[in-house]
Amino acid sequence: MDWNDTAEQAGFRREVRSLIETRLPGRYREMAAHGGPGERAWEFDRKSPDPVARDAATAWHRALAERGWVAPHWPKEYGGAGLTAMEQFILNQEIARSGAPHVGGSGLAMLGPTIIMHGSEAQKQKYLPPILDGEVTWAQGYSEPGAGSDLASLQTRAVRDGDDFILNGQKIWTSGAHAADAIFALVRTDPEAPKHRGISFILIEDIHAPGITVRPLIDMGGRHYFNEVFFEDVRVPVANLVGEMNRGWYVGMTLLDFERSNIGGAVGARRSLERLLAVIRADPELRARVNASPVRHEIAQRFVETEVMYQFSLRVISIQNRGQLPNDEASMSKLYNSELSQRIAQTAMQAMGLRGNLLEGDESSAARMYIGTVPATIRGGTSEVQRGVIATRGLGLPRG
Ligand SMILES: Cc1cc2nc3c(=O)[nH]c(=O)nc-3n(C[C@H](O)[C@H](O)[C@H](O)COP(=O)(O)OP(=O)(O)OC[C@H]3O[C@@H](n4cnc5c(N)ncnc54)[C@H](O)[C@@H]3O)c2cc1C
Repeated sequence: MDWNDTAEQAGFRREVRSLIETRLPGRYREMAAHGGPGERAWEFDRKSPDPVARDAATAWHRALAERGWVAPHWPKEYGGAGLTAMEQFILNQEIARSGAPHVGGSGLAMLGPTIIMHGSEAQKQKYLPPILDGEVTWAQGYSEPGAGSDLASLQTRAVRDGDDFILNGQKIWTSGAHAADAIFALVRTDPEAPKHRGISFILIEDIHAPGITVRPLIDMGGRHYFNEVFFEDVRVPVANLVGEMNRGWYVGMTLLDFERSNIGGAVGARRSLERLLAVIRADPELRARVNASPVRHEIAQRFVETEVMYQFSLRVISIQNRGQLPNDEASMSKLYNSELSQRIAQTAMQAMGLRGNLLEGDESSAARMYIGTVPATIRGGTSEVQRGVIATRGLGLPRG
């Protein structure tokens, strides 16, 4: 099998690189040179008090929009790029390689494709254009204090009152809710039904509506990234249900992980390793120490593993290219990628020695990576949950 680009793919790759070279704002180049812009940088920049950050977010969105590349995975009729799976792969690969931030957030990655699949025509007309234009960003209100891996145990209630629902309850770990305009949520509409069958999928168009409180949660890296979201007698029109009432579980599940190839992860892993090597090469003393220790082999091993991660991504892409949906393959890719990111961070800490503990300056990337990769094996389905999926769907073992 030839892993190289075809002539057409190489041409497309050149186009993408040229856009990044000419249009990626200086702010993001600068961030990329120092470990990357961080997750949701575009969403946070959009709402930043700093005009430079706001302008960068607008300019990068505009550059992609002019090429029609804002939504590579949406069908063309809804404003998507209409790219083949391989072109999407190349676009994502080049964006990840350059360290440019993704635009559009959860609205673009998850909600848009879900509305396209399950929404009414009126919902498509109303909600898709503002997501594409970067005017409205959405938070994902799934997890609750008692419902994470066992999401179907969620308790947030939506009680019908005329043409509205009245919502009461709490969501937790809601990424980016403090910078979002709106939130989509899974809510319980029938408490008597078996737990998967009493859930509905609802769109809450204004996260600042009366009765909604967004409270920050500060993570172990000191970042304000996720939040708690409380609903107290919040009115939401019945028209905002996506799909049928009490069938929201199935709507909600199609939404998980639309970008399944994890190519961002594969490229990110390689970039982290390259950054580590650059720091080691630039410092003769460090280089001598690493060369004289078993960490040298550990780094080589991590390099091999980044290559394996590419193969996982390519496998998922080849499944998509055949018009099929990856299933346990996506779980394998997520599992391997998240655990690899943590192994690379551990290797970086080993290689850097005591300097790896510094949280300031250019050397800080090891410590930040170490802290920053902890959530990778929790979010989007924990490693245990992924292994469960692989065991049952991939290997046909009985449910645990
Ligand atoms: C950075 C980050 C961002 C997030 N963003 C969002 C967001 O935007 N929106 C949102 O809704 N949620 C979000 N989450 C929440 C995330 O989806 C949950 O944390 C995750 O599903 C795990 O649920 P939990 O935290 O309740 O842990 P639990 O489900 O309580 O799990 C605790 C432990 O038990 C293990 N466990 C649970 N069930 C099983 C089982 N069946 N078999 C074996 N082991 C099991 C788990 O693997 C884990 O080790 C985010 C989480 C993180 C870390």
